[in-house]
Amino acid sequence: MRVPLTTRDFLDRAELVYGDRLGIVDEPVQPAPSLGEVSYREVARRGRAMQAALDELGIAEGERIAVVSHNSARLLEMLLAVPSSGRVVVPVNFRLSPDEVSYIVGHSGARVLFVDPDLETSLKGVEAEHRFGTGQEYEQLLRYDVEPRPWSEPDEGATATINYTSGTTARPKGVQMTHRNLWVNAVTFGMHMQVSDRDVYLHTLPMFHCNGWGLPYTMAGLGARQVVLRKVDGAEILRRVEQHGVTVMAGAPAVWNAVLEAAADWDGEIPGRDRVRIIVAGAPPPSKTIARVEAELGWEFNQIYGLTETAPLLTINRPRAEYDDLDPEERAKRLSRAGVPALGTRMTVSESGEVLAQGNTVLAGYWENPDASAEALEGGWFHTGDGGNIDDGGYVTISDRKKDVIITGGENVSSIEVEDAVFSHPAVAEVAVIGVPDDKWGEMVTALVVLTEGEQATEADIIAHCRARLAGYKLPKRVEFRDGLARTATGKIQKFKLRESFWTDSERQVN
Ligand code: AMP
Repeated sequence: MRVPLTTRDFLDRAELVYGDRLGIVDEPVQPAPSLGEVSYREVARRGRAMQAALDELGIAEGERIAVVSHNSARLLEMLLAVPSSGRVVVPVNFRLSPDEVSYIVGHSGARVLFVDPDLETSLKGVEAEHRFGTGQEYEQLLRYDVEPRPWSEPDEGATATINYTSGTTARPKGVQMTHRNLWVNAVTFGMHMQVSDRDVYLHTLPMFHCNGWGLPYTMAGLGARQVVLRKVDGAEILRRVEQHGVTVMAGAPAVWNAVLEAAADWDGEIPGRDRVRIIVAGAPPPSKTIARVEAELGWEFNQIYGLTETAPLLTINRPRAEYDDLDPEERAKRLSRAGVPALGTRMTVSESGEVLAQGNTVLAGYWENPDASAEALEGGWFHTGDGGNIDDGGYVTISDRKKDVIITGGENVSSIEVEDAVFSHPAVAEVAVIGVPDDKWGEMVTALVVLTEGEQATEADIIAHCRARLAGYKLPKRVEFRDGLARTATGKIQKFKLRESFWTDSERQVN
């Protein structure tokens, strides 16, 4: 027998097996009315009411629904329930500028757009055929009085979500995730992390980012409670861990640095000691952070490696039995590698040193971008754009980045996009944007600028100029003026050379 692997399985099982259980705890204080505590039965009922509302609006199978929202129970239930009706969810980064959001809504062809009340004013110019706030308007839309039309032909190859990600082009690309991609990621992830109905998951990751690494599906399918966190704050994370008995969290190294800082001022025993397991990715965590998480928080440190394009799970590094008796420094060193391939994934390194992957979590393609899709999947392998190596035990280590992307606080920034913004300043003759190591954010967006002869501009002028064009997290935090930029014989800027002086203390050129 062959039953299509669709995301519907996760919420269906949550409802059948764990219907009475508290499924989602919404953020208590937020601009929309909080949903408070919702059972999985209620989440499923609300999901059907949303599907019926989309029927009513005439949104067909395969059509797109974009949501720009901070973490919230409503965004979570859309991820869980909308693809089950054969429609496609497009979760959008809430930090993007109105122009960037308009591009994504337009490019994905979303007919419906949901906007967090907090962003109502700043995104007022973003248009879609139907637009609703994620507060009262969302509630009024729900149709409890009619049964939704079931998906006519459930298909695991159908697109479930499209996640726009900043890459090597100035405009983001839409990563098409199929039901099968999400299913395999969720189940494999749950198995490797041994998720069970005893777990309580705190959403320390933005849900828009790669669908919260697909963990909402894992947690729902296995009956784990999900606690929504709207804003990352170290002390607040510690309080929620204590209040809700949290056992699992995921996030970029910057999140755990914030928690470590808050823990230093925490009165009494750190909550979750010997209970919490954290999953870290987005950038290679320094081994010092790993040792501190284990010693100061007493939380289990797990690393994964992957991309939005791979759902994301490619490799996992869980402390294995052999590490139990290692001294903390040696243990942290082992855990600082990206990890071994997850079950069903194959990894190799190309001749040029690029990490390649094969598996069922690899994207179907980029939305309406056949050239980029063909390039990414060339030769039957997915090209990660990351440089690294694989040791005899199968452990992958990421050591540099082949693609022109900066990762700051776990979010990708396209260097080219920032260069375009800096270059549009009339006094700028040449620019190169690179990432330089930063203790808090991993990497810091830095612009190296050559001014046009006779023109003048200060660091503050350049940053102010970019502010009108870029989301806040993409702004150069630092601008350095140079007389010229290192170039190859053919005139290409040598970013590797430009980066060198900033990375002298480091073995690798990514952080
Ligand atoms: P994104 O698609 O935004 O999730 O970003 C994916 C990128 O994050 C990868 O291509 C890597 O450059 C980086 N990344 C993710 N996980 C790790 C990790 N464990 N170690 C090093 N870099 C990572």
